[in-house]
Amino acid sequence: MQLQGRNIIGFDSLSEGTVAIQALNPTTGETLAPLFFKATAEELNLAVFKAEKAFSVYRKKSGKEKALFLEQIALEIENLGDTLIERYTAESGLPAGRAQGERGRTTGQLKLFAGLLREGSWVNARIDPALPDRQPLPRVDLRSMERPLGPVGVFGASNFPLAFSVAGGDTASALAAGCPVIFKAHPAHLGTSELVGKAIQKAALETGMPDGVFSLLFDDGIEIGQALVKHPSVKAIGFTGSFKGGKSLFDAAAARPEPIPVYAEMGSTNPVFILPKTLQEKGESLAQNYLGSVTLGVGQFCTNPGILLIQKDAAFIEHLKQKVADTVGGVMLTPGIQSAYQNGIEKFKQYTEVIGTGKKSEGFTGVEPVILYANYQTFKDNPHLDEEIFGPTSLVVEGNSKEEFLEMATKLSGHLTATVHGSEEELTEYADLLEILEQKVGRLIINGFPTGVEVSHAMVHGGPYPATTDSRSTSVGTLAITRFTRPVCFQDMPDALLPDELKTGNPLEIWRKWDGNFQK
Ligand code: NAP
Repeated sequence: MQLQGRNIIGFDSLSEGTVAIQALNPTTGETLAPLFFKATAEELNLAVFKAEKAFSVYRKKSGKEKALFLEQIALEIENLGDTLIERYTAESGLPAGRAQGERGRTTGQLKLFAGLLREGSWVNARIDPALPDRQPLPRVDLRSMERPLGPVGVFGASNFPLAFSVAGGDTASALAAGCPVIFKAHPAHLGTSELVGKAIQKAALETGMPDGVFSLLFDDGIEIGQALVKHPSVKAIGFTGSFKGGKSLFDAAAARPEPIPVYAEMGSTNPVFILPKTLQEKGESLAQNYLGSVTLGVGQFCTNPGILLIQKDAAFIEHLKQKVADTVGGVMLTPGIQSAYQNGIEKFKQYTEVIGTGKKSEGFTGVEPVILYANYQTFKDNPHLDEEIFGPTSLVVEGNSKEEFLEMATKLSGHLTATVHGSEEELTEYADLLEILEQKVGRLIINGFPTGVEVSHAMVHGGPYPATTDSRSTSVGTLAITRFTRPVCFQDMPDALLPDELKTGNPLEIWRKWDGNFQK
């Protein structure tokens, strides 16, 4: 498929703008054809206008119809074949294996939501039938379920050009909920975005979806993104990226005459605690696995283990020292992310020691892994040391006692994950640590590492602020769908006028709560 560099606005492709932008190959430093043109305010307005119109039709599509649409998107992405993989690797500097894996994750995610829609119980249908004879007052008939919010604006992440981008988790969950999507492409992967955007456009046409159910706008600044958040017809925002970006969108949404929810996933440092006996017994293999997790994907994961907390163990530090020298960095996604990484390391070096560095990669944005060290007192005296440095680095913090572990945990801000390594006996001894950590994160991991996020029904990829702007949600897994819905209650509504999910005869045969009890 030939790239056109044009915005996708419903079933049209438009480029009214005059300001050109181009993708960059982070391995070679060369720009990549074609020229893309920044979306204009008029193009944004048209995309939102179409989305609002599409909503009146799309919101009524059955679960089965939406499932077919999502499955068709997955098929169209698969049909892009090597064209997609080649563009992905050129724009991201990530290897083909990663691109293929991420494509599988993206299409798998779309199919998972399709399955959720076919099964149907996600709508949380609750029916309290009328009790006309109840004394002293009769009860009315009450039926509630989740309904879609309206057009959703989505911002793609630089670090997952497929799985957290144009057809990624936010788009998949919003479309599954019944919400049209207006997507602001990330400038780090313009071509990958267009290819996937075209696949969605094609799938929408093939499955009879309304014009405007999906639009894709290009920009490499904040104008279009800010205008999207402020547009009165946009009803929610999905975002993955920096704290600065996410917080700014959250503030803009809150300042609207009609505030809207912003689900911003802004990353974290994902603290890993290793309990002392386990560290003594398994120090060497833990050092190896920890470094593997730190350097995976050039450390460009929101689940990268940025802080490792241990109690004094010279042997473990020695293992790290030896093993880090064999690690290899890689090419970072963009020059901006590379310089943020290098500046972050320089800033941390003023307060910490370097345990060791790995090998620097060739390439325009090549970097090396760096493992840093601080004792607990230094960590305590410099609160900014728990901030995220996006890239293949981590800070080892050494304490002296269980009390210091508990103090460290208590002081932590909100994170996506926390990890504890320990035997069952030792974990029981540290049950109070687990209890503190549960209150700080969206996912508590035992004897694993935080990188590698399963896309499933039970997954929670979220956490208290500042990891996200709404700790009650997840941006990965099927639970993500409820970010884009709200409960609506129908009182004494004639059966024929109710959504199928709430009709007395249960034509969809879904699980519902009837008078407080689950039944089909
Ligand atoms: P970013 O700078 O937050 O950008 C993400 C998206 O939001 C881009 O499309 C960007 O547009 C847009 N945006 C940013 N600030 C905005 C604002 N104030 N108003 C409107 N739109 C705005 O993130 P990034 O480019 O992916 O990476 C930069 C840093 O973010 C990294 O160094 C890392 O620290 C962090 N990051 C975190 C995660 C995570 O998993 N949470 C993932 C990736 C990156 P433009 O780029 O067009 O300006």
